[in-house]
Amino acid sequence: MDTIGKIMISESGLAHVPQCGHLSWTRPGEQKPKWGWVPDATKEMWNSITTTTPLVATEGDRGLKAERRCSNCYPGMPGDPWV
Ligand SMILES: [Zn+2]
Repeated sequence: MDTIGKIMISESGLAHVPQCGHLSWTRPGEQKPKWGWVPDATKEMWNSITTTTPLVATEGDRGLKAERRCSNCYPGMPGDPWV
């Protein structure tokens, strides 16, 4: 199993890599978003994220789970280790 680093999970159920620009996004007047994450995630974990097999956060806000993958994160990150 290839460890690919941390998978960040947003309140909207979207999985991101830590480098994703989405992680610093807040709209005016909006609270800082909450995040959950899975440290030392594997490529298999990233690839298996679906609505039927969501990835549940093990750190941060552990009530969050990812049901979809961010389309900006995958594919196409520079030096993408995920493909
Ligand atoms: Zn993203």
